[in-house]
Amino acid sequence: MSSRSDQEGAPSIEGDSALRITEIFYSLQGEARTVGLPTVFVRLTGCPLRCVYCDTEYAFSGGQLLDVSDVVQQVAGFEPRYVTVTGGEPLAQSNCLTLLHTLCDAGYDVSLETGGAMSLEGVDPRVVTVLDLKTPASGEMQRNDYANIARLREADQVKFVICDRADYEWSRFKVDEHGLRGRVADILFSPSFGQLEGRQLAEWILADNLPVRMQLQLHKLLWGEEQGR
Ligand code: SF4
Repeated sequence: MSSRSDQEGAPSIEGDSALRITEIFYSLQGEARTVGLPTVFVRLTGCPLRCVYCDTEYAFSGGQLLDVSDVVQQVAGFEPRYVTVTGGEPLAQSNCLTLLHTLCDAGYDVSLETGGAMSLEGVDPRVVTVLDLKTPASGEMQRNDYANIARLREADQVKFVICDRADYEWSRFKVDEHGLRGRVADILFSPSFGQLEGRQLAEWILADNLPVRMQLQLHKLLWGEEQGR
């Protein structure tokens, strides 16, 4: 299948159930509802976006071709309860859907971190999706696929990475425009690391009495920008 992502940055895939993988590692979940819980991360290679603040540029290319069954076997070696499939943009590889389904069948609590440009259609309903709606300062706002909002389920979460006051105002507007409150389990406001002080964002949220969850990236507080953390 030739998709937009295949043409714009995703690696070519060989084999029926092959995935290009940048890394598989065990760490503490740094964000979202399961923050702080030991989690295995499967980072898929490739992303069609180029957000200005991207902290995983090393996942844009390279990686190793692995069969879905090999990935699941490596995950099992950590004996985790929680598994997060991330990237890059994991949904840029169509076999990501097979991986998600197989991980759910294996009994893990599976979450998916996606950038909002790729359709959520076909994602296993047992997966908790964390949808990152791109803000104006990301430089990729125009790539948001708003049809994904209707595909979100009650357990899913929507994240806004906020770089400045304009991003904050935009995010507030989008929460209201799309009726996100009550539609998803959590609305996450996260300061862009190195661009906006967490304290500043906290003060804006409190001043406006916004019912959103502010989050800091725990893994960066613990380990900085060290890869594989
Ligand atoms: S979607 Fe994620 S991986 Fe892709 S460029 Fe943006 S921040 Fe980086």
